Amino acid sequence: MSTPPTTAPPEGPLTVLNPATEEVVATVPATTAAQVDAAVVRAAKAQSGWAALAPGDRARLLRRFADAVDGAIDELAALEVRQAGHTLGNARWEAGNVRDLLEYAAAGIERLTGRQIPVAGGLNVTFHEPLGVVGVIAPWNFPMPIAAWGFAPALAAGNAVLLKPAETTPLTALRLAELALAAGLPEGLFQVLPGHGTVAGRALVDHPGVRKIVFTGSTAVGKEIMARCAGQLKRITLELGGKSPNIVFADADLARAAAAAPMSFLDNTGQDCCARTRILVQREVYDDFLALVAPAVAAVRVGDPADPATEMGPLISALQRDRVNAYLTPDQKVVAQGEAPSGPGFWCPPTLLAPEDPTSPAAVEEIFGPVAVILPFTDEADALRLANATRYGLSGSLWTRDLGRALRMARGVNAGNLSVNSHSSVRYWTPFGGFGESGLGRELGPDALAHFTETKNVFFSTEE
Ligand code: NAD
Repeated sequence: MSTPPTTAPPEGPLTVLNPATEEVVATVPATTAAQVDAAVVRAAKAQSGWAALAPGDRARLLRRFADAVDGAIDELAALEVRQAGHTLGNARWEAGNVRDLLEYAAAGIERLTGRQIPVAGGLNVTFHEPLGVVGVIAPWNFPMPIAAWGFAPALAAGNAVLLKPAETTPLTALRLAELALAAGLPEGLFQVLPGHGTVAGRALVDHPGVRKIVFTGSTAVGKEIMARCAGQLKRITLELGGKSPNIVFADADLARAAAAAPMSFLDNTGQDCCARTRILVQREVYDDFLALVAPAVAAVRVGDPADPATEMGPLISALQRDRVNAYLTPDQKVVAQGEAPSGPGFWCPPTLLAPEDPTSPAAVEEIFGPVAVILPFTDEADALRLANATRYGLSGSLWTRDLGRALRMARGVNAGNLSVNSHSSVRYWTPFGGFGESGLGRELGPDALAHFTETKNVFFSTEE
């Protein structure tokens, strides 16, 4: 069923650091494999009662959970600023997104209808049966929203959820579980299991009582989870990395495209799987575009994430800063760079690179930091060739005033989420997910609840 770990599993409590100051915010006990087993038993017990509730009653309880989150937005946002270094504005939006996801999922419960399909000699109907216990393994880059993309529809569809937050960011998830209980969700139905990925995460993946894993994180861990789930034919949804293009044609509104480009890769300090980190610009306007975008990148306000004027905070950890710095080698051609605080904190300045070689690591690998590359292209075919020259396929943006070109390019780019003349990509009511090594399956959107069910077909004979 599973490959044994090659190194000794990590032990001990989780130390949560403030990434802006390196001060210890909290120490949290790490869930052991035996505690995961016990949590699955509690969850299974709670799930059978939850699935048996009238749909309207389940919906009401989820709306109460949403209200509790709404009442705690300031508190949750402050916690996210401290544990993840998110800017205050982003953190408030993220807590509000959890509320919205719960309300949207709650509204789906009474609408999770099956079908009546015409057959001879009887009645044929389909039911959406809940899966049972679902494991959600969340990353540290958007600890609240990404967890809720899994737990809100999973709960709404009648499942219990075990959520394992990332090692560095367990605090908002733990608070959400308290709010769920206070709102009246049954004990055991939604449990948060902070812990190490290779201990608590693996225990969830390997447990036969967990019927689906929703994972967001690195492609390497996603592949391992897929392989381990195969042994049990366990359902999976994977949201993995990205190296998304931002394609600017000569006919675009260059000023608008240049104004939008910096935050399309610097928001959340570039720790965003949808970050537009490959800026592809048609050669005849390349110099003009660079002249507009370079000062805009350098002007981004980097600093204390709790200051409402700050646009970009620190990276999540020293490890992540080391990973990002590994791409900023002295041979790189830096065409724009901003400022970052010195002293404590995991800081990295906004940086735009212009690599000679479009296949170099900085141009094709996910850096997950405030770094993008800018590359010229000649025509549509060349833009498509460059855009599709990575193993990823999550997001992308196209800037052009030519509708036909926008449509041709949108159909040609291998990515799950594209945006024309803007950078929007994630809305809780539209489907989200990746092509290629960016993932498997879709989250969010009108089908979100159905992804946490099995379709059952039942035929009732009317023969006497
Ligand atoms: P990761 O994939 O190691 O961790 C993500 C989650 O998976 C965490 O909760 C972690 O505890 C858990 N996990 C780790 N190993 C596991 C295992 N063997 N079994 C079960 N669960 C396990 O991500 P990371 O190391 O924190 O970040 C590394 C890189 O991944 C980043 O630099 C970035 O490129 C990418 N990343 C992408 C996303 C995304 O949104 N797609 C999010 C985080 C990280």
